[in-house]
Amino acid sequence: MNKSEILNVFQDVVKEPLNSYVEQWISGGGKVGGYYCSLIPAEIFTAAGMVPYRIRGPRSEDTALADVYLSSNVCTFVRHTVNIALQGEFDFMSGIVCMNGCDQARRAYEVWKQKTKVPFHAFLSVPRTSEERLLSWYKEELEKLIEAMEKHFSVKIRSQELHEAIKLHNAARANLIRLNDLRKRPSPPISGSEALTVTIAAHVMPLKNFNELAEVLLAALNSDQAPRKYRARFIVSGGELDEPEFLKVMEDQGGLVVYEDTCFGARFYEEQVPEEGDPLTKIAERYFYRVPCARMVNSFPARYANVEQIMTDFHADGLIAQRIKQCIVNAGHLYNFTRRGRSNGMPTLVLDREYLAGGYGQVKTRVQAFIENIESKSKKGAEL
Ligand code: SF4
Repeated sequence: MNKSEILNVFQDVVKEPLNSYVEQWISGGGKVGGYYCSLIPAEIFTAAGMVPYRIRGPRSEDTALADVYLSSNVCTFVRHTVNIALQGEFDFMSGIVCMNGCDQARRAYEVWKQKTKVPFHAFLSVPRTSEERLLSWYKEELEKLIEAMEKHFSVKIRSQELHEAIKLHNAARANLIRLNDLRKRPSPPISGSEALTVTIAAHVMPLKNFNELAEVLLAALNSDQAPRKYRARFIVSGGELDEPEFLKVMEDQGGLVVYEDTCFGARFYEEQVPEEGDPLTKIAERYFYRVPCARMVNSFPARYANVEQIMTDFHADGLIAQRIKQCIVNAGHLYNFTRRGRSNGMPTLVLDREYLAGGYGQVKTRVQAFIENIESKSKKGAEL
């Protein structure tokens, strides 16, 4: 298969709640475990013999059913994902695991538990700061989850199974890190919307299949030296973002997205789990100490320092920070991105959006103006 054929396969995987690889896995007797937030280690599902599936809402058209249980203050990501769960689109799952990512995700859990047919439910209480003294709390929560899964699914999740799971997930992360490194090139062989599609596919399909396809794609991309035209390179940061079409809108205006500092993006694959030592401790440390997201208290300085380094490593011209409108969790970080950008001169564009909103008229206009602004600044800079 060539590059576009493989990218088409990944596009098919992410466009429906139930993709053909998961369907095949289930028809072979396999189980699927759903989870909401990237602080829930997917390795635990794999160690239980299940396929981990990160909840998202592809093809959801409205939130009518969810709005019966969720107020309009709840973000559209939660309302759309709960809506298709209530429509039975996730009934193929054997379990759902949520956590206190935010109050809105917590509400989602209550509706899943009481109003869907998914038989197993669990909730993780995760600390809001990654201080060393709190690691044991997080690890205890993972131990409780493992116990509940062993009991419900009559499986054993021991060091051996966890170790095998770490190796499989590390292989997927290694493929995504190699893919992302190609985007440092002056002419990256893959666009941001294509790269995000591949990363999202790794969240919702068996990783054995994912790794096989990813290795063929990487071989095709490695030899792809075709020049790519664009006017400005962007880093996209902020909150939940699992819509490649949102990046495509930016790229259709002449931008090129070279990195996603988001939970469906780099936070999913940056940093491997060490394969030496106690596997559950290593899993807990990797998830607990990684580059923090906005839900973690006092996390902005570490996050911004990381963004500044990425801007340099990926030769980016500007930062686009986005969030879903009602997302209180990311509101503070977006304000700080703007404030920092003003003080240090980093071109920064902040965008509020609705989940699966489409249209994107306003996004197009603002990205066009942002690109022109960057171009005029670099022109003035060159004239000096
Ligand atoms: S987008 Fe924000 S408000 Fe919505 S579930 Fe995620 S963190 Fe919570």
